[in-house]
Amino acid sequence: MLHLQNFINGTFVPMASGNYLPNLNPATAEVFSQLPDSDERDVQAAVEAAEAAFPAWSMLSAEKRGRYLIKLSELIDQNLERLAEAETTDNGKPLKLSRTVDIPRASSNLYFFGTGVQHFASESHFMEGVAVNYTVRRPLGVVACISPWNLPLYLFTWKIAPALAAGNTVVAKPSEITPYTAHLLAELCLEAGLPAGVLNIVHGTGPKVGAPLCEHPLVKAISFTGGTQTGKTIARTAAPLFKKLSLELGGKNATVIFADCDFEKTVATAVQAAFANQGQICLCGSRILVEGPLYEKFKEAFLAKVKTLTVGDPIQEGTNLGALVSEAHLQKVQQYISLAKEEGGTLLAGGERVHLEGRCSKGYFLQPTVFENLPHTCRTNTEEIFGPVVTLQPFETEEEALHSANFTPYGLAASVWTQDLTRAHRVAHALQAGIVWVNTWLLRDLRTPFGGMKQSGVGREGGWEALRFFTEAQNVCIKL
Ligand code: NAD
Repeated sequence: MLHLQNFINGTFVPMASGNYLPNLNPATAEVFSQLPDSDERDVQAAVEAAEAAFPAWSMLSAEKRGRYLIKLSELIDQNLERLAEAETTDNGKPLKLSRTVDIPRASSNLYFFGTGVQHFASESHFMEGVAVNYTVRRPLGVVACISPWNLPLYLFTWKIAPALAAGNTVVAKPSEITPYTAHLLAELCLEAGLPAGVLNIVHGTGPKVGAPLCEHPLVKAISFTGGTQTGKTIARTAAPLFKKLSLELGGKNATVIFADCDFEKTVATAVQAAFANQGQICLCGSRILVEGPLYEKFKEAFLAKVKTLTVGDPIQEGTNLGALVSEAHLQKVQQYISLAKEEGGTLLAGGERVHLEGRCSKGYFLQPTVFENLPHTCRTNTEEIFGPVVTLQPFETEEEALHSANFTPYGLAASVWTQDLTRAHRVAHALQAGIVWVNTWLLRDLRTPFGGMKQSGVGREGGWEALRFFTEAQNVCIKL
Protein backbone atom coordinates (compact mmCIF):
# COMPACT_ATOMS: atom_id res chain seq x y z
CA MET A 1 0.00 0.00 0.00
CA LEU A 2 1.25 3.41 -0.98
CA HIS A 3 1.81 5.78 1.96
CA LEU A 4 1.90 9.46 1.06
CA GLN A 5 3.98 11.78 3.19
CA ASN A 6 4.16 15.44 4.00
CA PHE A 7 6.87 17.38 2.20
CA ILE A 8 8.46 19.83 4.62
CA ASN A 9 11.77 21.63 4.32
CA GLY A 10 12.75 19.69 1.23
CA THR A 11 12.19 16.20 2.61
CA PHE A 12 9.38 13.72 3.06
CA VAL A 13 8.60 13.57 6.76
CA PRO A 14 6.18 11.60 8.92
CA MET A 15 3.22 13.48 10.40
CA ALA A 16 3.10 14.26 14.10
CA SER A 17 -0.02 12.20 14.85
CA GLY A 18 1.28 9.00 13.22
CA ASN A 19 -2.24 8.47 11.85
CA TYR A 20 -3.22 7.91 8.25
CA LEU A 21 -6.45 8.47 6.37
CA PRO A 22 -7.62 6.08 3.63
CA ASN A 23 -7.54 7.35 0.05
CA LEU A 24 -9.96 5.70 -2.36
CA ASN A 25 -10.06 5.16 -6.08
CA PRO A 26 -13.65 6.27 -6.80
CA ALA A 27 -13.91 4.05 -9.87
CA THR A 28 -13.31 0.89 -7.84
CA ALA A 29 -14.22 2.09 -4.33
CA GLU A 30 -10.96 0.49 -3.16
CA VAL A 31 -8.39 2.10 -0.87
CA PHE A 32 -5.24 2.47 -2.94
CA SER A 33 -3.18 4.71 -0.67
CA GLN A 34 -2.99 6.25 2.78
CA LEU A 35 -2.43 9.93 3.42
CA PRO A 36 -1.17 11.64 6.56
CA ASP A 37 -3.83 12.82 8.97
CA SER A 38 -1.77 15.89 9.78
CA ASP A 39 -2.60 18.58 12.33
CA GLU A 40 -1.44 21.96 13.58
CA ARG A 41 1.98 20.56 14.60
CA ASP A 42 2.76 19.66 11.00
CA VAL A 43 1.43 23.04 9.86
CA GLN A 44 3.74 24.71 12.37
CA ALA A 45 6.76 22.79 11.07
CA ALA A 46 5.87 23.66 7.46
CA VAL A 47 5.35 27.35 8.20
CA GLU A 48 8.67 27.49 10.07
CA ALA A 49 10.46 25.89 7.11
CA ALA A 50 8.79 28.31 4.70
CA GLU A 51 9.65 31.29 6.90
CA ALA A 52 13.30 30.21 7.07
CA ALA A 53 13.48 29.73 3.29
CA PHE A 54 11.89 33.08 2.47
CA PRO A 55 14.87 35.46 2.66
CA ALA A 56 17.05 33.49 0.22
CA TRP A 57 14.21 32.64 -2.16
CA SER A 58 12.86 36.19 -2.30
CA MET A 59 16.37 37.52 -2.97
CA LEU A 60 16.88 35.29 -5.98
CA SER A 61 16.38 37.04 -9.29
CA ALA A 62 13.05 36.51 -11.03
CA GLU A 63 14.95 34.71 -13.76
CA LYS A 64 16.46 32.19 -11.35
CA ARG A 65 13.12 31.55 -9.63
CA GLY A 66 11.50 31.25 -13.03
CA ARG A 67 14.04 28.65 -14.11
CA TYR A 68 13.09 26.37 -11.21
CA LEU A 69 9.46 26.56 -12.24
CA ILE A 70 10.28 25.90 -15.88
CA LYS A 71 12.34 22.88 -14.82
CA LEU A 72 9.39 21.61 -12.81
CA SER A 73 7.14 22.12 -15.82
CA GLU A 74 9.54 20.08 -17.98
CA LEU A 75 9.59 17.31 -15.39
CA ILE A 76 5.78 17.21 -15.43
CA ASP A 77 5.91 16.81 -19.22
CA GLN A 78 8.42 13.97 -18.88
CA ASN A 79 6.16 12.26 -16.34
CA LEU A 80 2.90 12.96 -18.16
CA GLU A 81 1.66 9.39 -18.33
CA ARG A 82 2.49 8.54 -14.73
CA LEU A 83 0.86 11.71 -13.43
CA ALA A 84 -2.22 11.26 -15.64
CA GLU A 85 -2.70 7.71 -14.37
CA ALA A 86 -2.28 8.90 -10.78
CA GLU A 87 -4.84 11.68 -11.27
CA THR A 88 -7.38 9.31 -12.75
CA THR A 89 -6.83 6.71 -10.03
CA ASP A 90 -7.34 9.38 -7.37
CA ASN A 91 -10.18 11.35 -8.92
CA GLY A 92 -12.11 8.96 -11.19
CA LYS A 93 -11.93 11.24 -14.23
CA PRO A 94 -11.37 9.73 -17.70
CA LEU A 95 -7.69 9.06 -18.31
CA LYS A 96 -7.83 10.88 -21.62
CA LEU A 97 -8.96 14.01 -19.75
CA SER A 98 -6.07 13.74 -17.26
CA ARG A 99 -3.68 13.17 -20.15
CA THR A 100 -4.92 15.98 -22.39
CA VAL A 101 -6.18 18.59 -19.93
CA ASP A 102 -5.22 18.25 -16.26
CA ILE A 103 -1.54 17.35 -16.46
CA PRO A 104 -0.60 19.45 -19.52
CA ARG A 105 -2.29 22.42 -17.85
CA ALA A 106 -0.33 21.83 -14.63
CA SER A 107 2.83 22.02 -16.72
CA SER A 108 1.59 25.17 -18.50
CA ASN A 109 0.80 26.86 -15.18
CA LEU A 110 4.41 26.49 -14.03
CA TYR A 111 5.84 27.44 -17.41
CA PHE A 112 3.52 30.44 -17.75
CA PHE A 113 4.43 31.98 -14.38
CA GLY A 114 8.05 30.86 -14.59
CA THR A 115 8.45 32.89 -17.76
CA GLY A 116 5.85 35.58 -16.99
CA VAL A 117 7.46 36.74 -13.78
CA GLN A 118 10.51 37.77 -15.77
CA HIS A 119 8.36 40.44 -17.47
CA PHE A 120 6.78 41.68 -14.24
CA ALA A 121 8.25 45.17 -14.11
CA SER A 122 8.13 47.99 -11.57
CA GLU A 123 6.06 51.07 -12.36
CA SER A 124 7.26 54.64 -12.13
CA HIS A 125 5.33 57.90 -11.97
CA PHE A 126 7.12 61.07 -12.82
CA MET A 127 5.96 64.38 -11.27
CA GLU A 128 7.29 66.96 -13.71
CA GLY A 129 10.18 68.86 -12.09
CA VAL A 130 9.10 67.78 -8.59
CA ALA A 131 9.67 64.13 -7.87
CA VAL A 132 9.84 60.63 -9.24
CA ASN A 133 7.96 57.71 -7.78
CA TYR A 134 8.80 54.11 -8.34
CA THR A 135 6.60 51.28 -7.15
CA VAL A 136 8.13 47.94 -6.39
CA ARG A 137 6.06 44.82 -5.90
CA ARG A 138 7.49 42.88 -2.98
CA PRO A 139 6.71 39.26 -2.14
CA LEU A 140 4.59 38.83 0.96
CA GLY A 141 6.46 36.08 2.81
CA VAL A 142 4.82 32.74 3.64
CA VAL A 143 1.55 32.17 1.83
CA ALA A 144 -1.06 29.41 2.03
CA CYS A 145 -2.44 27.67 -1.06
CA ILE A 146 -5.50 25.48 -0.52
CA SER A 147 -7.00 23.56 -3.42
CA PRO A 148 -10.00 21.28 -4.13
CA TRP A 149 -10.43 17.79 -5.57
CA ASN A 150 -12.01 18.40 -8.95
CA LEU A 151 -8.87 19.45 -10.88
CA PRO A 152 -6.25 18.38 -8.36
CA LEU A 153 -2.82 19.08 -9.87
CA TYR A 154 -4.20 21.67 -12.29
CA LEU A 155 -5.49 23.93 -9.50
CA PHE A 156 -2.68 23.14 -7.08
CA THR A 157 -0.12 24.41 -9.60
CA TRP A 158 -2.36 27.33 -10.63
CA LYS A 159 -1.78 28.65 -7.11
CA ILE A 160 1.74 27.66 -6.20
CA ALA A 161 3.21 28.80 -9.53
CA PRO A 162 2.44 32.55 -9.20
CA ALA A 163 3.08 32.44 -5.45
CA LEU A 164 6.58 31.01 -5.91
CA ALA A 165 7.35 33.04 -9.04
CA ALA A 166 6.62 36.25 -7.16
CA GLY A 167 9.18 35.29 -4.48
CA ASN A 168 6.98 33.91 -1.71
CA THR A 169 7.47 30.62 0.04
CA VAL A 170 4.46 28.35 0.21
CA VAL A 171 2.65 25.97 2.49
CA ALA A 172 0.16 24.13 0.29
CA LYS A 173 -2.69 21.84 1.21
CA PRO A 174 -4.18 19.67 -1.52
CA SER A 175 -7.62 18.19 -1.04
CA GLU A 176 -7.60 15.17 1.26
CA ILE A 177 -9.84 13.49 -1.33
CA THR A 178 -7.21 13.74 -4.11
CA PRO A 179 -3.73 14.14 -2.59
CA TYR A 180 -1.78 11.81 -4.86
CA THR A 181 -0.46 14.06 -7.65
CA ALA A 182 0.62 16.75 -5.17
CA HIS A 183 2.72 14.05 -3.50
CA LEU A 184 4.24 13.13 -6.87
CA LEU A 185 4.93 16.80 -7.56
CA ALA A 186 6.95 16.94 -4.34
CA GLU A 187 9.14 14.17 -5.75
CA LEU A 188 9.65 16.27 -8.88
CA CYS A 189 10.57 19.28 -6.71
CA LEU A 190 13.44 17.22 -5.32
CA GLU A 191 14.50 16.29 -8.85
CA ALA A 192 14.28 19.94 -9.94
CA GLY A 193 16.53 20.93 -7.03
CA LEU A 194 14.01 23.39 -5.62
CA PRO A 195 15.61 24.82 -2.47
CA ALA A 196 14.39 23.29 0.80
CA GLY A 197 11.42 24.99 2.45
CA VAL A 198 10.34 26.94 -0.63
CA LEU A 199 7.36 24.66 -1.25
CA ASN A 200 5.94 22.66 1.64
CA ILE A 201 2.99 20.31 1.28
CA VAL A 202 0.90 19.27 4.26
CA HIS A 203 -1.76 16.61 3.71
CA GLY A 204 -4.92 16.18 5.74
CA THR A 205 -8.38 17.51 6.36
CA GLY A 206 -9.72 21.04 6.16
CA PRO A 207 -10.42 21.44 9.89
CA LYS A 208 -7.10 19.91 11.05
CA VAL A 209 -4.73 21.34 8.41
CA GLY A 210 -6.53 24.04 6.39
CA ALA A 211 -7.91 25.90 9.41
CA PRO A 212 -4.66 26.16 11.44
CA LEU A 213 -2.83 27.13 8.27
CA CYS A 214 -5.26 30.01 7.66
CA GLU A 215 -5.02 31.06 11.31
CA HIS A 216 -1.23 30.98 11.48
CA PRO A 217 0.15 34.46 12.24
CA LEU A 218 3.12 34.05 9.89
CA VAL A 219 0.90 33.26 6.90
CA LYS A 220 0.45 36.54 5.05
CA ALA A 221 -1.99 35.54 2.32
CA ILE A 222 -4.44 32.75 1.60
CA SER A 223 -5.25 31.60 -1.89
CA PHE A 224 -8.24 29.28 -1.71
CA THR A 225 -10.28 27.39 -4.28
CA GLY A 226 -13.22 25.35 -3.07
CA GLY A 227 -16.81 25.57 -1.90
CA THR A 228 -18.56 28.82 -1.00
CA GLN A 229 -19.29 27.66 2.57
CA THR A 230 -15.60 26.90 3.20
CA GLY A 231 -14.75 30.26 1.64
CA LYS A 232 -17.00 31.99 4.18
CA THR A 233 -15.26 30.23 7.06
CA ILE A 234 -11.83 31.21 5.75
CA ALA A 235 -12.92 34.82 5.18
CA ARG A 236 -14.08 34.99 8.80
CA THR A 237 -10.67 33.78 9.96
CA ALA A 238 -8.66 36.01 7.66
CA ALA A 239 -10.45 39.34 8.12
CA PRO A 240 -9.41 40.23 11.70
CA LEU A 241 -5.87 39.01 10.98
CA PHE A 242 -5.63 41.34 7.92
CA LYS A 243 -4.49 38.62 5.59
CA LYS A 244 -4.71 39.01 1.86
CA LEU A 245 -7.39 36.71 0.55
CA SER A 246 -8.18 35.24 -2.85
CA LEU A 247 -11.32 33.11 -2.97
CA GLU A 248 -12.35 31.05 -5.99
CA LEU A 249 -15.66 29.48 -5.06
CA GLY A 250 -18.68 27.70 -6.50
CA GLY A 251 -20.64 28.36 -9.66
CA LYS A 252 -24.03 27.76 -11.25
CA ASN A 253 -23.30 28.74 -14.79
CA ALA A 254 -25.73 29.46 -17.58
CA THR A 255 -25.37 28.42 -21.21
CA VAL A 256 -27.49 30.99 -23.09
CA ILE A 257 -28.47 29.82 -26.57
CA PHE A 258 -30.17 32.04 -29.15
CA ALA A 259 -32.06 30.72 -32.18
CA ASP A 260 -29.45 32.11 -34.59
CA CYS A 261 -26.57 30.08 -33.12
CA ASP A 262 -24.33 27.77 -35.10
CA PHE A 263 -26.50 24.79 -34.22
CA GLU A 264 -24.17 21.78 -34.48
CA LYS A 265 -21.31 23.50 -32.69
CA THR A 266 -23.63 24.78 -29.98
CA VAL A 267 -25.17 21.37 -29.26
CA ALA A 268 -21.78 19.65 -29.15
CA THR A 269 -20.25 22.24 -26.84
CA ALA A 270 -23.32 22.48 -24.59
CA VAL A 271 -23.03 18.72 -23.98
CA GLN A 272 -19.34 19.04 -23.24
CA ALA A 273 -19.92 22.04 -20.92
CA ALA A 274 -22.60 20.08 -19.08
CA PHE A 275 -20.80 16.78 -18.54
CA ALA A 276 -17.03 17.25 -18.79
CA ASN A 277 -15.33 15.78 -15.73
CA GLN A 278 -18.78 14.38 -14.73
CA GLY A 279 -20.03 17.96 -14.34
CA GLN A 280 -17.46 18.55 -11.61
CA ILE A 281 -15.83 21.67 -13.03
CA CYS A 282 -16.70 24.98 -11.42
CA LEU A 283 -17.19 26.35 -14.97
CA CYS A 284 -19.62 23.68 -16.18
CA GLY A 285 -22.79 25.01 -17.81
CA SER A 286 -25.50 23.37 -15.74
CA ARG A 287 -28.43 25.62 -16.73
CA ILE A 288 -29.07 25.58 -20.45
CA LEU A 289 -31.35 28.42 -21.53
CA VAL A 290 -32.66 28.10 -25.08
CA GLU A 291 -34.61 30.65 -27.13
CA GLY A 292 -38.22 29.50 -27.68
CA PRO A 293 -38.23 28.84 -31.44
CA LEU A 294 -35.14 26.61 -31.15
CA TYR A 295 -36.11 24.83 -27.93
CA GLU A 296 -37.64 21.59 -29.22
CA LYS A 297 -35.07 21.12 -31.96
CA PHE A 298 -32.23 21.78 -29.49
CA LYS A 299 -33.73 19.44 -26.90
CA GLU A 300 -33.95 16.58 -29.37
CA ALA A 301 -30.38 17.02 -30.63
CA PHE A 302 -28.98 17.55 -27.11
CA LEU A 303 -30.67 14.40 -25.76
CA ALA A 304 -29.55 12.39 -28.78
CA LYS A 305 -25.97 13.39 -28.07
CA VAL A 306 -26.26 12.71 -24.35
CA LYS A 307 -27.43 9.17 -25.16
CA THR A 308 -24.16 8.56 -27.04
CA LEU A 309 -22.05 9.37 -23.95
CA THR A 310 -20.39 6.36 -22.36
CA VAL A 311 -20.22 6.13 -18.60
CA GLY A 312 -17.42 3.72 -17.94
CA ASP A 313 -14.10 2.70 -16.50
CA PRO A 314 -12.01 5.90 -16.59
CA ILE A 315 -9.00 4.07 -17.98
CA GLN A 316 -10.92 2.88 -21.07
CA GLU A 317 -10.31 5.02 -24.15
CA GLY A 318 -14.00 5.21 -25.08
CA THR A 319 -15.18 6.53 -21.72
CA ASN A 320 -16.79 9.98 -21.67
CA LEU A 321 -17.87 10.09 -18.04
CA GLY A 322 -15.83 8.43 -15.30
CA ALA A 323 -16.70 8.10 -11.62
CA LEU A 324 -17.85 10.85 -9.29
CA VAL A 325 -15.17 11.66 -6.78
CA SER A 326 -16.60 9.91 -3.69
CA GLU A 327 -19.58 8.08 -2.32
CA ALA A 328 -20.56 11.12 -0.25
CA HIS A 329 -20.49 13.32 -3.33
CA LEU A 330 -22.46 10.76 -5.36
CA GLN A 331 -25.13 10.78 -2.63
CA LYS A 332 -25.22 14.57 -2.62
CA VAL A 333 -25.81 14.63 -6.38
CA GLN A 334 -28.46 11.89 -6.12
CA GLN A 335 -30.25 13.98 -3.49
CA TYR A 336 -30.38 16.83 -5.96
CA ILE A 337 -31.90 14.49 -8.55
CA SER A 338 -34.62 13.62 -6.02
CA LEU A 339 -35.07 17.32 -5.27
CA ALA A 340 -35.47 18.16 -8.95
CA LYS A 341 -38.27 15.56 -9.16
CA GLU A 342 -39.92 16.93 -6.00
CA GLU A 343 -39.76 20.41 -7.49
CA GLY A 344 -41.78 19.16 -10.45
CA GLY A 345 -39.01 18.64 -12.96
CA THR A 346 -39.49 16.29 -15.90
CA LEU A 347 -36.64 13.80 -16.21
CA LEU A 348 -35.53 13.67 -19.85
CA ALA A 349 -32.41 11.52 -19.49
CA GLY A 350 -30.41 9.62 -16.88
CA GLY A 351 -31.12 10.00 -13.20
CA GLU A 352 -29.75 6.63 -12.11
CA ARG A 353 -26.55 5.29 -10.62
CA VAL A 354 -24.60 3.13 -13.09
CA HIS A 355 -23.38 -0.29 -12.01
CA LEU A 356 -20.50 -1.45 -14.17
CA GLU A 357 -19.08 -4.94 -14.54
CA GLY A 358 -15.63 -6.06 -13.41
CA ARG A 359 -13.13 -3.94 -11.52
CA CYS A 360 -15.49 -0.92 -11.42
CA SER A 361 -18.52 -2.80 -10.05
CA LYS A 362 -18.46 -0.80 -6.79
CA GLY A 363 -17.52 2.58 -8.33
CA TYR A 364 -19.46 5.82 -7.97
CA PHE A 365 -20.90 6.21 -11.46
CA LEU A 366 -23.94 8.23 -12.43
CA GLN A 367 -25.80 8.68 -15.70
CA PRO A 368 -25.69 12.08 -17.39
CA THR A 369 -28.98 13.57 -16.23
CA VAL A 370 -31.23 16.14 -17.89
CA PHE A 371 -34.35 17.83 -16.53
CA GLU A 372 -36.85 20.32 -17.94
CA ASN A 373 -39.94 22.12 -16.66
CA LEU A 374 -38.23 23.64 -13.63
CA PRO A 375 -38.61 27.36 -12.85
CA HIS A 376 -35.44 29.44 -12.83
CA THR A 377 -36.12 30.29 -9.17
CA CYS A 378 -36.13 26.73 -7.77
CA ARG A 379 -33.30 25.22 -5.75
CA THR A 380 -32.28 22.88 -8.56
CA ASN A 381 -31.71 25.93 -10.74
CA THR A 382 -30.02 28.15 -8.18
CA GLU A 383 -27.83 25.84 -6.05
CA GLU A 384 -24.55 24.31 -7.17
CA ILE A 385 -24.93 20.55 -7.74
CA PHE A 386 -21.42 19.93 -9.09
CA GLY A 387 -22.32 16.72 -10.87
CA PRO A 388 -23.67 15.46 -14.20
CA VAL A 389 -27.09 17.08 -13.78
CA VAL A 390 -28.38 19.87 -16.01
CA THR A 391 -31.65 21.60 -16.74
CA LEU A 392 -33.10 22.88 -20.01
CA GLN A 393 -35.17 26.08 -19.86
CA PRO A 394 -36.86 27.89 -22.75
CA PHE A 395 -36.95 31.71 -22.88
CA GLU A 396 -38.84 34.16 -25.07
CA THR A 397 -36.87 37.41 -24.81
CA GLU A 398 -33.30 38.47 -24.19
CA GLU A 399 -34.43 40.20 -20.97
CA GLU A 400 -36.00 36.98 -19.73
CA ALA A 401 -32.80 35.03 -20.55
CA LEU A 402 -30.69 37.54 -18.64
CA HIS A 403 -33.07 37.59 -15.70
CA SER A 404 -32.92 33.78 -15.41
CA ALA A 405 -29.18 33.57 -16.04
CA ASN A 406 -28.46 36.12 -13.30
CA PHE A 407 -30.97 34.63 -10.85
CA THR A 408 -28.45 32.79 -8.65
CA PRO A 409 -26.19 33.86 -5.81
CA TYR A 410 -23.26 32.76 -7.97
CA GLY A 411 -21.49 34.66 -10.74
CA LEU A 412 -18.59 32.62 -12.00
CA ALA A 413 -19.01 31.94 -15.73
CA ALA A 414 -21.49 31.90 -18.61
CA SER A 415 -21.49 31.13 -22.30
CA VAL A 416 -23.54 32.88 -25.00
CA TRP A 417 -24.38 31.30 -28.34
CA THR A 418 -25.42 33.60 -31.19
CA GLN A 419 -24.21 34.79 -34.61
CA ASP A 420 -25.35 38.34 -33.83
CA LEU A 421 -22.24 40.20 -32.76
CA THR A 422 -24.06 43.18 -31.28
CA ARG A 423 -26.25 40.95 -29.18
CA ALA A 424 -23.24 38.90 -28.08
CA HIS A 425 -21.57 42.01 -26.65
CA ARG A 426 -24.78 43.32 -25.11
CA VAL A 427 -25.61 40.03 -23.39
CA ALA A 428 -22.02 39.43 -22.27
CA HIS A 429 -21.97 42.81 -20.52
CA ALA A 430 -25.33 42.25 -18.84
CA LEU A 431 -24.39 38.84 -17.45
CA GLN A 432 -23.26 38.81 -13.84
CA ALA A 433 -20.32 36.49 -14.38
CA GLY A 434 -16.58 36.96 -14.05
CA ILE A 435 -15.93 34.95 -17.22
CA VAL A 436 -18.14 35.05 -20.32
CA TRP A 437 -17.50 32.92 -23.39
CA VAL A 438 -19.13 33.70 -26.71
CA ASN A 439 -19.56 30.72 -29.07
CA THR A 440 -17.08 28.68 -27.08
CA TRP A 441 -16.52 27.24 -23.61
CA LEU A 442 -13.48 26.64 -21.41
CA LEU A 443 -11.12 28.35 -23.83
CA ARG A 444 -8.51 29.76 -21.48
CA ASP A 445 -5.74 32.28 -22.01
CA LEU A 446 -3.68 32.21 -18.82
CA ARG A 447 -3.06 35.96 -19.08
CA THR A 448 -6.73 36.80 -18.56
CA PRO A 449 -8.32 37.51 -15.16
CA PHE A 450 -10.05 34.43 -13.76
CA GLY A 451 -12.60 34.56 -10.97
CA GLY A 452 -16.18 35.08 -9.98
CA MET A 453 -18.66 37.78 -9.08
CA LYS A 454 -21.16 37.58 -6.20
CA GLN A 455 -20.76 34.41 -4.11
CA SER A 456 -18.38 32.85 -6.62
CA GLY A 457 -15.45 34.57 -5.03
CA VAL A 458 -13.29 37.51 -4.20
CA GLY A 459 -10.37 38.59 -6.35
CA ARG A 460 -9.02 37.29 -9.62
CA GLU A 461 -6.34 34.78 -10.55
CA GLY A 462 -4.35 34.56 -13.79
CA GLY A 463 -1.66 36.68 -15.40
CA TRP A 464 -0.70 39.93 -13.67
CA GLU A 465 -3.70 39.63 -11.33
CA ALA A 466 -2.10 36.63 -9.65
CA LEU A 467 1.34 38.21 -9.46
CA ARG A 468 -0.21 41.35 -7.96
CA PHE A 469 -2.10 39.27 -5.42
CA PHE A 470 1.05 37.49 -4.30
CA THR A 471 2.98 40.75 -3.89
CA GLU A 472 2.42 44.06 -2.18
CA ALA A 473 3.21 47.45 -3.56
CA GLN A 474 5.76 49.74 -2.01
CA ASN A 475 6.02 53.22 -3.45
CA VAL A 476 9.22 55.21 -3.09
CA CYS A 477 8.91 58.94 -3.77
CA ILE A 478 12.13 60.85 -4.50
CA LYS A 479 12.15 64.64 -4.48
CA LEU A 480 14.03 66.06 -7.41
P1 NAD B 1 -14.09 22.31 -0.14
O1 NAD B 1 -14.40 23.73 0.16
O2 NAD B 1 -14.79 21.25 0.61
O3 NAD B 1 -12.55 22.01 0.03
C1 NAD B 1 -11.56 22.74 -0.66
C2 NAD B 1 -10.26 22.68 0.15
O4 NAD B 1 -10.45 23.40 1.36
C3 NAD B 1 -9.84 21.28 0.54
O5 NAD B 1 -8.43 21.19 0.46
C4 NAD B 1 -10.31 21.20 1.99
O6 NAD B 1 -9.61 20.27 2.75
C5 NAD B 1 -10.05 22.60 2.46
N1 NAD B 1 -10.83 23.02 3.64
C6 NAD B 1 -12.00 22.53 4.09
N2 NAD B 1 -12.37 23.17 5.22
C7 NAD B 1 -11.42 24.09 5.48
C8 NAD B 1 -11.25 25.08 6.49
N3 NAD B 1 -12.13 25.24 7.48
N4 NAD B 1 -10.16 25.87 6.44
C9 NAD B 1 -9.28 25.75 5.44
N5 NAD B 1 -9.36 24.82 4.47
C10 NAD B 1 -10.44 24.01 4.47
O7 NAD B 1 -14.35 22.15 -1.71
P2 NAD B 1 -14.26 20.83 -2.57
O8 NAD B 1 -15.48 20.01 -2.29
O9 NAD B 1 -12.92 20.22 -2.44
O10 NAD B 1 -14.34 21.43 -4.06
C11 NAD B 1 -15.54 21.65 -4.74
C12 NAD B 1 -15.90 23.12 -4.73
O11 NAD B 1 -14.83 23.87 -5.28
C13 NAD B 1 -17.09 23.43 -5.59
O12 NAD B 1 -17.94 24.32 -4.91
C14 NAD B 1 -16.49 24.11 -6.81
O13 NAD B 1 -17.34 24.99 -7.50
C15 NAD B 1 -15.35 24.82 -6.20
N6 NAD B 1 -14.36 25.15 -7.23
C16 NAD B 1 -14.20 26.45 -7.61
C17 NAD B 1 -13.30 26.78 -8.60
C18 NAD B 1 -13.10 28.21 -9.03
O14 NAD B 1 -12.08 28.47 -9.68
N7 NAD B 1 -13.98 29.13 -8.72
C19 NAD B 1 -12.53 25.78 -9.19
C20 NAD B 1 -12.71 24.47 -8.78
C21 NAD B 1 -13.62 24.16 -7.79
